[in-house]
Amino acid sequence: MNEKDTICAVATPQGNGAIAIIRLSGDKAIEICDKLFYAKNKKLIKQKANTIHHGYIKDKKYTVDEVLVSIYKSPHSYTGEDSVEISCHGSVYIQQEILKALIKNGARLAGPGEFTMRAFLNGKLDLSQAEAVADLIASSNKASHNVALNQMRGGFSSELHHLRNELLQFISLIELELDFSEEDFEFADRGKLSELINKIYKLITVLRDSFSMGNAIKNGVPVAIIGKPNVGKSTLLNALLMDEKAIVSEIAGTTRDAIEDTITLNGVQFRFIDTAGIRKTKDKLETIGIKKTFEKVQKAKIILYLFDADDKPDKIEEAMQELEGKINQENQKILIALNKIDKLNEEQLKKEIEHITSHLSYKNFSIVPIAAKSKLNLNVLEKELLSIVGLDRINEDQVIINNIRHFEALQKSAEALERAKTGLDTGISNDLLAQDIR
Ligand code: GDP
Repeated sequence: MNEKDTICAVATPQGNGAIAIIRLSGDKAIEICDKLFYAKNKKLIKQKANTIHHGYIKDKKYTVDEVLVSIYKSPHSYTGEDSVEISCHGSVYIQQEILKALIKNGARLAGPGEFTMRAFLNGKLDLSQAEAVADLIASSNKASHNVALNQMRGGFSSELHHLRNELLQFISLIELELDFSEEDFEFADRGKLSELINKIYKLITVLRDSFSMGNAIKNGVPVAIIGKPNVGKSTLLNALLMDEKAIVSEIAGTTRDAIEDTITLNGVQFRFIDTAGIRKTKDKLETIGIKKTFEKVQKAKIILYLFDADDKPDKIEEAMQELEGKINQENQKILIALNKIDKLNEEQLKKEIEHITSHLSYKNFSIVPIAAKSKLNLNVLEKELLSIVGLDRINEDQVIINNIRHFEALQKSAEALERAKTGLDTGISNDLLAQDIR
């Protein structure tokens, strides 16, 4: 593979369509296309950038298709190189014939991601923007689309870049001090440096902490529905999905396998895992189901714990205590849904909720009264789900990271800045300070 080659590929999805687009990029893109392109007007090479031309693609005398050709000139193209897009009719045969003809005339087939790689190498995109292109193409809902679009537009890149340069200036001053260590000069203003470090630290930690949200947007938020048999888990899941995927029955313990399904709320996907429920049992199949339940619980971001509205508060306390040891309180949140509230009157319900809230020693939970069967309060439940992940508060231009490489890089930067902050306070030697800042 040579970066100087002119590359070509079909840019539209595989298969037949109304129109397909074939892209060419590289020094010879326009020249190669000219060899196949026949139009009334002058040659493409003589045409202005950002213009579209009608004509025919011919392989020698054989007319392949009637097409439109768009031309872009370096550096004003996606890749930063001279580029051509041929819009042809979307038959697979035509696409192949055009590709073959382009290759015969000096282009080569592009490798996966090679157009975007060139955009990166030619400084049209930084790495995080190039990565965002893949996310943008893969985005399947409003939220993931927003995140990718913001990142591709440059997001925090330019701000980070600017702050990085400021830090580098300080390092050179500190390193200069090293050269004059005998004289005890101080070129770098420690107060200003400390201010800058604090500013960057803040920015970086905000970005770093957006990862869990970004990840949720990209991959969906896993929610495990648990509760004892017959509490209404399948009914709730069905009501949320408005679908009949889970089995609803009167016989306790019918939902044995974990079923996963997704619903989209405010453009964010929630992946619901219906579980076998939890209860002490001798049934072998059910024991396996319960073990699976706890495995699923560990992978969930939200644990939707269903109770019956007339469950005794001490039963709920007991169930919650059992769960407490099995979850990661920092990353997982319990949402208690008190189901079948149609069985209680308002006064009874009020008392029950007060009871539960005052009884539970575990405090990191929210509680929503619902009636799954009649779909009562499901909108409140849905709002609560969004608010737990903070997705009710995001605005459209907020930069959110969703890439593990970015998360790790930001985490490392935050740690180094923390060391630099402590270093400044305790007056560590300049070489160590410079190292952390670098
Ligand atoms: P699961 O074993 O937890 O999945 O429970 P199911 O969803 O199979 O429900 C068990 C029984 O409770 C079914 O007969 C449902 O119709 C009933 N049920 C579910 N939600 C409600 C509700 O809000 N009110 C009442 N009264 N019954 C409900």
